[in-house]
Amino acid sequence: MQSKKISDKLDKIVADARLAVEKREKGYRARALKIHPWICGRCAREFSREGLQELTVHHRDHDHDNNPPDGSNWELLCVYCHDNEHSRHIDSGYGDAGSDVQKSDTATHSPFANLADMLKHKK
Ligand SMILES: [Zn+2]
Ligand SMILES: [Zn+2]
Repeated sequence: MQSKKISDKLDKIVADARLAVEKREKGYRARALKIHPWICGRCAREFSREGLQELTVHHRDHDHDNNPPDGSNWELLCVYCHDNEHSRHIDSGYGDAGSDVQKSDTATHSPFANLADMLKHKK
């Protein structure tokens, strides 16, 4: 069955994509922790190895694919400050400007939803 085949293929692609994201995140987190001191860039809370899972890597330009080896796009933030950082951006950036964007597309709730369409158009 064609649709069965597509969903199998899709499962594989989704699994691969998840793996790639995990791998990439581990990669830049480890590198960021090597380059930068273990201190939150906002509240200056210091971290030791025990609490380190609460120290997260923030991307200054919010582009998680932008990972220059010198660490210039990374900032270490504790989970609380990291949350604040992002909610502030949502407040100022997405407030009302984007309200009419992509309302008609009901599939946008999943980051992988459009993969099915992409595969359908492929032969
Ligand atoms: Zn903090
Ligand atoms: Zn961030």
